[in-house]
Amino acid sequence: MSESANCIFCKIVRGEIPSIKIHEDAQTLSFMDVRPASPGHTLVISKAHTPNLLEIAEADLLAVTVVVQRVAQAIQKALAPDGMRVSQFNGAAAGQTVFHYHVHIIPTQEGQRIGAHGRDQADAQQLESLAAQIRAALGS
Ligand code: 5GP
Ligand code: ZN
Repeated sequence: MSESANCIFCKIVRGEIPSIKIHEDAQTLSFMDVRPASPGHTLVISKAHTPNLLEIAEADLLAVTVVVQRVAQAIQKALAPDGMRVSQFNGAAAGQTVFHYHVHIIPTQEGQRIGAHGRDQADAQQLESLAAQIRAALGS
């Protein structure tokens, strides 16, 4: 069985498991992190299955990076956070848990500690509402 057959993000790309999408194009998909570190935490992934920064094809890396900027701009417009952390993990030792290339965009507020990502499941309605705001900003 191929690596991508069991990969949770490949399943999201194929529509086999649901996600709350922000943006999609030929090479990338952006969606809400289901266990966010802060409200508005969004993931941008390459559609092609590739484990990490060391192995991603340059064209996919560029495509993801351009979308990261666009989605970050939309989050800024929609949610007006004080700051934004953009991060990416390579290998279990670095904290990576899903071995399919992705970039985290985590809105931050002055004086508020950022929680750990991948821990507490967010309220689905809150995720939908944040996603609608980000999508609207992206389209405007
Ligand atoms: P990392 O591998 O960089 O540590 O983080 C993986 C991220 O993927 C975590 O923040 C986790 O909450 C998120 N994640 C894991 N499974 C799913 C899923 O099925 N749907 C969504 N939307 N996010 C997921
Ligand atoms: Zn994958």
